[in-house]
Amino acid sequence: MQDKIYLQSRSRLQDYEPIVGRSSLEELRVLAEKLSGKIIQTINSTFVGGGVVEILEHMVPLLNQLGVDARWDVISGNEEFFEVTKKFHNALHGKRERISPEDFALFSEVTERNLEEIKFYGDYFFIHDPQPVALIAKKREIGKRWVWRCHIDVSKPDKKVWRFLHDFIVDYDAVVFSSPNFAQQLPIRQFLITPSIDPLSDKNKELDSGTIDSVLKKYGLTSDKPMIVQISRFDRLKDPLGVIEAFEMVSKNIDCQLVLAGGTADDDPESEEVLEEVRRRAEGNHDIHVLLVPPESDIDINALQRAATIVIQKSLKEGFGLTISEALWKAKPVVASAVGGIPLQIKNKLTGLLCYTVEGAAYALKQLLSNPEYANWLGQNGREHVKQNFLITSHLKDYLLVFLSLDQHSDVVYL
Ligand code: UDP
Repeated sequence: MQDKIYLQSRSRLQDYEPIVGRSSLEELRVLAEKLSGKIIQTINSTFVGGGVVEILEHMVPLLNQLGVDARWDVISGNEEFFEVTKKFHNALHGKRERISPEDFALFSEVTERNLEEIKFYGDYFFIHDPQPVALIAKKREIGKRWVWRCHIDVSKPDKKVWRFLHDFIVDYDAVVFSSPNFAQQLPIRQFLITPSIDPLSDKNKELDSGTIDSVLKKYGLTSDKPMIVQISRFDRLKDPLGVIEAFEMVSKNIDCQLVLAGGTADDDPESEEVLEEVRRRAEGNHDIHVLLVPPESDIDINALQRAATIVIQKSLKEGFGLTISEALWKAKPVVASAVGGIPLQIKNKLTGLLCYTVEGAAYALKQLLSNPEYANWLGQNGREHVKQNFLITSHLKDYLLVFLSLDQHSDVVYL
């Protein structure tokens, strides 16, 4: 197990005041004070890549600034373990996966090793996603409060995997899902909390045009024609091939370019294979740019989102899809699939356009490319929607309330 000790947020709490107002910050301070002297130990499976990391690396330092002793650890696992947990991930999203008894045995074996190696020092344990879910076994020995935070769309999970995980989940004190659609029949408390973006992070802060231009140049891009951008790990559930297909339909009539930019995540062993598939599919079309973006290239991602004429997120499944809030915060028109947590962010024809098929995506892209005024209006609405609902400060408040509520013994929890 590693320990993320270099975490340092460059944003100070007071810097958020012009965006969210003084009273929001005051509320946070009042709630945080009630947790003084307690340790929140967060555990997930990687420090690099994906939405969970994106949130934790800003949330943990902000909690620390609020005087809450929040710390972050990751479990360790070999490639085979992450292959199994990626199958769990896909299966929970409803995809068919072959999961053998040996796979379940390997999962339990690696969990045992982590149970021995990890130092469990928290008063509250905040466990993210399926990879570390079975660490709950430690509760029998040390007690304390345990929360499982599920970032996956589990509205139609594969039954076999859900049953396996269910036995661990029920030992938690509470579970957090991202959307009301994901709520489950469980004998423990469930909280529905959407993820968030940090408006002051390198990923989302304002950039000057010189910075944007230099990032475009670095990746060999020019803004001489409208740019459609999808930012995602190279994962089949993000449907990069579907994006290319939609783009090809659009570019028959409208001269434009497509950027598919993404990286890999330590806990996602499939990404290199998917990247190769995408590269092969895009070969020969000079208007399609497939970019492998190194980890921690937040300014680059920010610049690509800001350079976009339209941001697309054509996921087949999506827990939430932070990339959408990131794009909306930049007032970009967004075309995104109506799956998982996406409709919480995209209210069709109000904060963006939802699509259901490749053809639908192509139609929406054409509509926005040919009507910049409408596209701009959607983007502005989208920014306001994110401001009201998906900024890190309200997310922090929700989590603080979850932890505080665990020490109350009433069945009714008002958030
Ligand atoms: N991201 C990134 N570099 C990449 C691809 C994605 O920094 O090459 C970021 C992206 O900007 C977002 C997060 O990783 O902040 C992905 O979160 P999302 O919820 O969209 O998808 P997930 O990867 O968790 O399925």
